[in-house]
Amino acid sequence: MKKFLVYLVLALLALTALLQWSLNSESTQQVLLEEMATVAQNAAARGIPEPDGLQVFVCGSSSPLPTPDRAQACLAVVTPSHFYVVDAGAGSTNNLMLSRLPMHRLQAILVTHHHSDHIAELYEMNLGSWVQGRPLPLQVYGPRGMDQVVEGINDTYELDRGYRIAHHGADLLPASLGVMQPEEIVSGFVLQDGDLKITAYHADHSPVSPALGYRFDYRGRSLVISGDSIVTDDTRQVTAATDLVFHDALSDVTISTMAEAATQAGQDRAAKILSDIRDYHASTESLLALQSQAKMVVYYHLVPSPRNVVMEKIFSRHMADNYRIAEDGDWFFLPADSTDIIVNPD
Ligand SMILES: [Zn+2]
Ligand SMILES: [Zn+2]
Repeated sequence: MKKFLVYLVLALLALTALLQWSLNSESTQQVLLEEMATVAQNAAARGIPEPDGLQVFVCGSSSPLPTPDRAQACLAVVTPSHFYVVDAGAGSTNNLMLSRLPMHRLQAILVTHHHSDHIAELYEMNLGSWVQGRPLPLQVYGPRGMDQVVEGINDTYELDRGYRIAHHGADLLPASLGVMQPEEIVSGFVLQDGDLKITAYHADHSPVSPALGYRFDYRGRSLVISGDSIVTDDTRQVTAATDLVFHDALSDVTISTMAEAATQAGQDRAAKILSDIRDYHASTESLLALQSQAKMVVYYHLVPSPRNVVMEKIFSRHMADNYRIAEDGDWFFLPADSTDIIVNPD
């Protein structure tokens, strides 16, 4: 037995050395690189997941408070024939591209309000979908101020578009498709796109006004995305008998403790900002009121994003069984004409 173990260890060492040696060989590197490139290209060709239903991909679950492994606010809503994104926070385009969703099919971005953590990557999503062959200009819906934001971004990146057209040719990148098309909408606005109905509703993120949340209805399934908002009568109304609610969530215990620590450390600016943000996000305590409204409530736009197990436990205090904290990369699938909610299907 002892001899066998010695031979086994020697064999493993020899194998490791062989692997190390072969990885240093340029021809082995080339073979492996070709294999990886083929896998990546075939993966990129995959379309929107096929089962019929409403699907949500978490392309960003964080808020402006810095965190190492989450993008800012972004949720993609897809069906076999629809592809919308709600908000475009920093880092979210990377998640979208890595998700293997077909960016050329992106139809529109629905903006909840004009805070930077919701609009930072409008242009990145526009660029990513333009480069991949989107056949129509990208629509950007949002509350009053949307025209100003989109026109400013289109102007800012005019040179960028020019360089890319000059380099790759107007046949590949038609100039008219690189310019985003804004549309200002109000609470009550309805976008009917085949079987998918999108309804904008009033979100209370005062003093940021107007702000919107969005409800999606598709073949017997429903989804609400709050954007940044406290819980109001509008929230209760729009989430009544809903399947899935994604809501902005703030841990008041954590933020208050951070504010207090900032004060003690003489960091008055940080203390002031931390204490200011408490009044325009939904506290985790207030969100417990949605327990009977929806089949599942998911916290996103986490203020702050839990950085360790202690913060996560505090964030999830009193959470009912039908509550979850979103992670970047999560998928939620609501099969058509069913009551199931499948989290991260295979
Ligand atoms: Zn905001
Ligand atoms: Zn925000």
